Amino acid sequence: MLNHQGRPTSPGAAQTSERATFTSNRGLQMEEALIFETGRAEVTGVDLEEPAAFTSRLGTLAREEAIGLPGLSEPETMRHYVRLSQKNYAIDSGLYPLGSCTMKHNPRLNEAMARLPGFADVHPLQPQSTVQGALALIDDLARWLMVLTGTEAVAMSPKAGAHGELCGMMAIKAAIDAKGEGATRKVVLVPESAHGTNPATAASIGFIVKAVPAGADGNVHPDAVRALIGPDVAAIMLTNPNTCGLFEKDIVEIASILHEAGAYFYCDGANFNAIVGKARPGDLGIDAMHINLHKTFSTPHGGGGPGAGPVALSQRLAPFAPVPFIRRDGPALSLVEEGEGTQSFGRMTAFHGQMGMFVRALSYMMSHGADGLKQASEDAVLNANYVRACLADLMSLPFGNRPCMHEALFDDTWLKDTGITTLDFAKAMIDEGYHPMTMYFPLVVHGAMLIEPTESESLAALDLFIMTLRDLALSALRGEAERFSGAPYLAPRRRLDETLAARQPVLRWTKPKPVEV
Ligand SMILES: *Cc1c(COP(=O)(O)O)cnc(C)c1O
Repeated sequence: MLNHQGRPTSPGAAQTSERATFTSNRGLQMEEALIFETGRAEVTGVDLEEPAAFTSRLGTLAREEAIGLPGLSEPETMRHYVRLSQKNYAIDSGLYPLGSCTMKHNPRLNEAMARLPGFADVHPLQPQSTVQGALALIDDLARWLMVLTGTEAVAMSPKAGAHGELCGMMAIKAAIDAKGEGATRKVVLVPESAHGTNPATAASIGFIVKAVPAGADGNVHPDAVRALIGPDVAAIMLTNPNTCGLFEKDIVEIASILHEAGAYFYCDGANFNAIVGKARPGDLGIDAMHINLHKTFSTPHGGGGPGAGPVALSQRLAPFAPVPFIRRDGPALSLVEEGEGTQSFGRMTAFHGQMGMFVRALSYMMSHGADGLKQASEDAVLNANYVRACLADLMSLPFGNRPCMHEALFDDTWLKDTGITTLDFAKAMIDEGYHPMTMYFPLVVHGAMLIEPTESESLAALDLFIMTLRDLALSALRGEAERFSGAPYLAPRRRLDETLAARQPVLRWTKPKPVEV
């Protein structure tokens, strides 16, 4: 039973289609309650003997009440987690065109490598002499990254893109402090089209963020940077290719404006997938750039991690890199720690970073080779342009129908007068079995739809995706608002109040009071 807003009329009818079922299941798609709702304290999946008489030594610290963990049998546990996993849309189940996220296939070879006992079972506290192979792998990966970026050093420990931003900006801060300019260089320039993490990173370590307006063509213009540059500017944080899917064509000039003013150039390299093997960020004048191994180099991501965000550093910033880093002394490798004669700003994390991700990324690089990595970038750009070209007659392109890099950006001008929004269009894609594209980002474009197909899709998969979007677009333009306004009609849950969920998240399950009868 649905009310006029398309919401279930009662909690029991958490049903999603017009047709209610007795179980609330939809065909073979199972409803699944929280484990705390189905579990019972007295049930267990293991059968251990009661311990022989023992005396607790906890004294007054002993727990007085049951801990309240849910108990389930083994088959119940299996079904619970398998059903939950089936609710997850993943790159392993279908095309995932989420712009700026580079949702590419994760080759299974990488998984096999990461599970080799010598990599999977090492412990960060093992004596360094017993993990020389693991250190060599981290060092090899760092070298590949330095070659691909054309930089002098790479900090391997950051554990996500945003963490890498923090690392790079802390290195910049340390370099500024070392020059005695810490009190004056307080401003970080961030283009309006930046990922939200950029201004957040700068602000979180005490910089004042100033927005650089984007040009009408979606690029950052040197004059806009010149207008803001001064002795108070510490750095710029620029994304290249930018979040409009465009190469920042004036990046070299922007770099020299920064450098001439004594400031540093941070580049958000999350979109490195578009230029690997084609352009080296070091040659473009960048001083620091994080690389999302979990985007460009195919290590899995989503759902909060684990990620890895190594940061390539120029010669000017290399001395300030975080510890620990690897030193090669003949055949022996060792980790350099704080206080060992470095100007390091300190440590980003316990230990050395995400070992499993390092193995996967190096496996990806070695199996592709230099030519394969270059081809992956070319194919990613080709695929995005194919999508752009095949949709350009129906959907509007904010910066004209010109070539893009790895992602194609549409706006909502074409939906004007249809009563259908970007959100509606994205929700209707779910009914067709596609994860929506990135919506309403970048903010510089009204009703943005940012599509990044990546290189891992076949021509057939791209054609089906394009035909689906064309069918939806034609339907929108014909005024078939109903297909969109209530979408998704076929998903396990329909339109949720995402704002309320974000503003007032309920993060803890509390046991409901027993119902009185
Ligand atoms: C993904 C992304 C980030 C942040 O990376 P995380 O690993 O999610 O922290 C930063 N900038 C851009 C442009 C991105 O696409």
